[in-house]
Amino acid sequence: MKITAITPRQILDSRGNPTLEVDFSVQNQVYRAAVPSGASTGTHEAVELRDGKPAYHGKGVQKTIAHVKKLAKKIKAKTFTTQNQFDGFLLQQDGTPTKKKLGANTLLALSLAFARGHAGKKRLYADLAEALKKTPRLPLPFANVLNGGRHAGTPLKIQEFMVVPVGAKTFSEATQMVSEVYHSLKKDAVQKFGASAGNVGDEGGIAPPLQNTRQALDLIWRAVEENGYSQKMALALDCAASEFYERGTYYVDGKHITPAELTQYYLDLHGQYRFISLEDPFHEESFTEFGVLTRLLRGKAQVVGDDLTVTNPRRILQAKKSCSALLLKVNQIGTLSESFAAAKTAESLGWNVMVSHRSGETEDAFISDLATALACGQIKLGAPARGERTAKYNQLLRIEEDGVKLKLFSLPH
Ligand code: PEP
Ligand code: MG
Repeated sequence: MKITAITPRQILDSRGNPTLEVDFSVQNQVYRAAVPSGASTGTHEAVELRDGKPAYHGKGVQKTIAHVKKLAKKIKAKTFTTQNQFDGFLLQQDGTPTKKKLGANTLLALSLAFARGHAGKKRLYADLAEALKKTPRLPLPFANVLNGGRHAGTPLKIQEFMVVPVGAKTFSEATQMVSEVYHSLKKDAVQKFGASAGNVGDEGGIAPPLQNTRQALDLIWRAVEENGYSQKMALALDCAASEFYERGTYYVDGKHITPAELTQYYLDLHGQYRFISLEDPFHEESFTEFGVLTRLLRGKAQVVGDDLTVTNPRRILQAKKSCSALLLKVNQIGTLSESFAAAKTAESLGWNVMVSHRSGETEDAFISDLATALACGQIKLGAPARGERTAKYNQLLRIEEDGVKLKLFSLPH
């Protein structure tokens, strides 16, 4: 593949912060990719390079633009055939384990734009699946309908309350179920807590002023039942527990509790609400506590590593006995090839894989094609509202038109 022009630019993400977008010109066609950004980021994520200058309160990405311009000269002078080869070149140019020299955001924009250029006129998911030697499958949406933690600014400590349409036969049906529940939930919340309870958090889920986890789960389950979906829908949580960890204890539902008490808290919640997926239940270095809970929930719910594993094959192997599923975020590691390696490592351990957006997103729906190509069966993509979230749903609806089938949910063994 011959890349003839590379154009980087600073655009805004869904929180109104600057982020990097890159255009590749290949045979007179333009291929574009943009980089998302987290709020509850893991300490071990690859480095997101920001300017630290007065512009945009330090969040500008002009340094990444300068890096892309320098790399562009070298890239245009070469011919790349595969994603591995291209990403290998990027990694060699950076040369640091954390991507701190060029920034994971710099590398990711280039890596994703390359993938689009490589696909050319072919569907992106189809081209990626071919390289992965997989049969594409549509993922089930894990829809974050109620936002807490850092994404909402309410007393709720658990960050994400998701519904999963496990009984849907198609992605269109899954989308309809999620949307109907979302609107019932909004209506119920407004009725109960007043008009502002329908306002939304960073991922498009409502952010009512609730005091504790059970209130949120009850409100959501009521909306599920109102729509007649109690046999076809399940609940899932992302605790993002690093955010409510304070020197050995966790502050949740108005109380400081020990890791052992938190374990019991999750087991009790599971007993009542039967959630099928629990992400980051402990803080990001708690390999042992994660492992205990994974064993106790085996066959009942998957335990997902996000801040713990940061899409990094090395951390995933370290967490071998700690989780049963991987949250895959491309900007946590910085290149597409390394994200593939992370998925492969997780699969080799018998884990499930859930592709994920970030709380700061763009209109780029790359992850919809990625999840389909990986045939991993799960995608975390926020509420079915707000443009940066619906972009992901809508791309999956388009992919469904090609006859790609939805993968059914199953727990890891
Ligand atoms: C998450 O924690 O899984 C998440 C999507 O939030 P953020 O992007 O803020 O890390
Ligand atoms: Mg998370």
